Amino acid sequence: MRAFFIGRFQPYHLGHHEVIKNILNEVDELIIGIGSAQESHSLENPFTAGERVWMISKALDELKIEKKIYIIPLEDIKRNSLWVAHVKEMVPPFDVVYSNNPLVKRLFKEAGVEVRGTHLYNRVEYQGTEIRKKMINGENWKKYVPKAVVEVIETIDGINRIKEIISKDI
Ligand code: NAD
Repeated sequence: MRAFFIGRFQPYHLGHHEVIKNILNEVDELIIGIGSAQESHSLENPFTAGERVWMISKALDELKIEKKIYIIPLEDIKRNSLWVAHVKEMVPPFDVVYSNNPLVKRLFKEAGVEVRGTHLYNRVEYQGTEIRKKMINGENWKKYVPKAVVEVIETIDGINRIKEIISKDI
């Protein structure tokens, strides 16, 4: 059985990592969609699709998983009612979707695709918005992401990128 799981992964954190480990216990193959692939260099979406591919594949490498995992960037489209068809065009066929995002769940259900919820892990701290806030405020963000993600963000000078893009032009 092949599953599909989508996120923005800004950044890929330990909540995502736990969910993916659990999905991989239940299925043979997994497609990880990187949503809003066109977005980068903003407060909400600081990292490019390519950087997010790198974060996730490096973090998963460390788990030494034997199963097939596809990581595929997916640009947003303006029409929610056509989005499932867009996803299906861009990725290999899948049997089940794992998600906790209400819109994602609803759109796949309406398209007749089986949707399974996932557990939430420490949703207060394992949350992109909170982690990005910590990055800006100089707080400890590293404990909320896999070690591989820390390495990628440091290599691309990611923290200074976020601080610079939110600074004022004065
Ligand atoms: P996200 O990175 O916030 O979350 C990804 C998944 O991880 C979600 O299922 C979320 O519930 C789960 N998650 C987050 N924190 C967790 C934690 N601590 N523990 C366990 N699970 C946790 O990404 P998202 O915003 O859900 O991504 C959806 C993507 O789909 C977006 O890029 C969105 O733009 C895209 N989308 C696009 C369209 C369109 O183009 N019309 C329509 C629907 C969705």
